[in-house]
Amino acid sequence: MSSNVRVRFAPSPTGYLHVGGARTALFNYLFARHHGGKFILRIEDTDRERSTPEAIEAIIESLKWLGLDWDEGPYFQTRRYPLHKEKAQKLLAEGKAYPCTCTSEELEAKRQAAQKAKRKPVYDGTCRKNRGDPVVISARLTAERKPYTIRFLSPQSGTTVVEDAVKGRVVFENSELDDLIIARSDGSPTYNFSVVVDDVDMAITHIIRGDDHLANTPRQILLYQGLGYPIPQFAHVPLILGTDKARLSKRHGATSVMAYKDMGYFPEALVNYLVRLGWSHVRFLPVPERSRSEPRQSSARSRGIRVVVGGRGLEPLTSCMSSMRSNQLS
Ligand SMILES: [Zn+2]
Repeated sequence: MSSNVRVRFAPSPTGYLHVGGARTALFNYLFARHHGGKFILRIEDTDRERSTPEAIEAIIESLKWLGLDWDEGPYFQTRRYPLHKEKAQKLLAEGKAYPCTCTSEELEAKRQAAQKAKRKPVYDGTCRKNRGDPVVISARLTAERKPYTIRFLSPQSGTTVVEDAVKGRVVFENSELDDLIIARSDGSPTYNFSVVVDDVDMAITHIIRGDDHLANTPRQILLYQGLGYPIPQFAHVPLILGTDKARLSKRHGATSVMAYKDMGYFPEALVNYLVRLGWSHVRFLPVPERSRSEPRQSSARSRGIRVVVGGRGLEPLTSCMSSMRSNQLS
């Protein structure tokens, strides 16, 4: 059986693969296998200062150990800059983006002023005046020796809706989203922009990732619309938390996949454990009553599954604060 389902796991190689990342990879892998689709590995190494070859190696080794074989990749985002650049230029040419010459000092001063006035520190749109023929404008800025970033022109009013397979309908006010920088002054793409361009170029149909990315999603949807692309299905899965309900970190004990290997666990045991985290059993873990009201950003945040894991190895699941609408993923 084959289908057009294409999913990706896209870690940033700034450290080892932790169990939360492995769980996201596992969901993508299972979804691809269930639908006879493709599972793609993409290394998001755009943070040049924090990305290391050792981390790339560790991520690949961990995925191999878990048996999460990918069908394509690994692709490296930094090798795809020409495509990102081309798409940024396209948005400029269409008047959907503009050069911003604000210096970091100016932006910082504006941010502080906004904070003082108790306003949300969104970009004030000073450089929107730079819209127009990109050739003429960039020639002028080059002549004036003004370095510039490229900002995406975002709508000032209305809402952007994320129809999430896990969280449901999440509505964001556009007034809360400012004009996102899509390319830095050195021409390199920023995170949200390169993610969207690559997901489109790789024909990703379902974006299954940690719910820490939900806040990025309305910006990414606006970029899809700006680039004229169909929006994929999003599914934001909750992060794994420690027993103290804080985001899982080193202080909770072993969090890296390879630490479990070193402790003598079989990969099958870890995969089994991860796939069942947050799997609510009706007899033991009743689903809390969900809000009947229209979910908005704030309520949706508390609504996903918060999966809690014991810090010392594969101990039993200690609590589960909500349940997952995993049936929507099948
Ligand atoms: Zn500006």
